[in-house]
Amino acid sequence: MRNLRIDHRLLLIANGRLSCGWFSLNAGLDRHGKTGAVAAIASVLLVMLSGCAGLPRPVAVTQIKPADIIVTAEESASLLFSEIGTELTIEIARWHNAADAAVSLTFDDGTLDQYLFAAPALEEHGMRATFFLIPGLMDGGIWNDSGTERLLFGWDAARSLHRRGHEIGAHTMTHGDLSRADRERVFWELSESQQQLQARIPGARVSTFAWPYWRSSHEARTVAAEIFAASRAGAASAARFREHGLPEARPIDRSAVNALALLPTHDPASWTAVADDLTSVGGWGVLSLHGVTDGVLADHAVGWQPLSLHQLRTVLSFLNDERYWVAPFGEVMDYIVRRDATTLTILSPPSAGGENAGRASARFVVSRSPEIQVRPGGSVTVVISNHGTACAAVVLADEQPLAVRCREGQALFDIPDGVAVIDLFLPYR
Ligand SMILES: [Zn+2]
Repeated sequence: MRNLRIDHRLLLIANGRLSCGWFSLNAGLDRHGKTGAVAAIASVLLVMLSGCAGLPRPVAVTQIKPADIIVTAEESASLLFSEIGTELTIEIARWHNAADAAVSLTFDDGTLDQYLFAAPALEEHGMRATFFLIPGLMDGGIWNDSGTERLLFGWDAARSLHRRGHEIGAHTMTHGDLSRADRERVFWELSESQQQLQARIPGARVSTFAWPYWRSSHEARTVAAEIFAASRAGAASAARFREHGLPEARPIDRSAVNALALLPTHDPASWTAVADDLTSVGGWGVLSLHGVTDGVLADHAVGWQPLSLHQLRTVLSFLNDERYWVAPFGEVMDYIVRRDATTLTILSPPSAGGENAGRASARFVVSRSPEIQVRPGGSVTVVISNHGTACAAVVLADEQPLAVRCREGQALFDIPDGVAVIDLFLPYR
């Protein structure tokens, strides 16, 4: 333990509040600034107000608590290191890699054409999708869909898709219409399909579901909410999708996430126009697809309402842009849950002296609601920006360096699950 004296004029703009003044912090900090710092920050007092040139005077003198600078999915925070004239803004990115919008491609029924044509086309663009399978029908390989015999891919193909990074979701045991089924039947269709998929595809965590025929009932959705992290609901054409309002950063009902239908009769330009609009609202676009045809496999053998490979490739090429984060349905839902449960709370105020000569630093504690359930091994993207030097930032996560990516003057990094403390260092002259 040793005494560290920080006596800086700081401007703190956090959570929409503005305080301006002199801090006097004279506290015992251990080398890593942990427990000592918590007590110290909690006792920081605004000891003297002084005018900050060009800025409004604060309306009240208040005690600054650690919680006064927090960063959440809803609120970014700015810190001004006034002595070195550096302002740093920190925010939790709405989507992975700070993409403007998230897009999930979902394929229902597990028809053979999806395995033969869609998966390779996706992989040509480095994309992964969600395949909602019907385990009760997969052993037979043929599904009599109201008189049409469709070819389904089998378990080896399902395991291969899982190994290649695609998501396997459930689509009931029998492909029944659950909008009029009783609670017991709904529970069986959902939980049994989840368990069979997990039992026969080693390592698969089946956390998502799609409603057959896009139909559900209020009661059925309450069952789905108990079993799955997210369920994909009905789909609409681009025009209807827009009419109902573009989806935003989190679904209104995670048991009935609306989707945009891609049907061969729709103009692909209408889909790409919706995707374009999604970037302006920062939304999550879930696309619902069925068959994909190469024009050789007989139409009756492929999935319902098949897109041509050309139509699919048109959409994939459009989405192959860093404005979009294209990821499986469950992975995006996981990001939403993780993002909304994460808080960064300042532990050490911005400082630029003592052992930090030549660089400004700030330390944040990372906390997450303990009850959330997500796949382990994920991360949340954080963006820091300032006037030109953010890309020189060095970031430590629990004292281990994190990879920092630079994009348009902003620094991006991913905080992996389990990290407790983040240190930011910015060099200055
Ligand atoms: Zn279906």
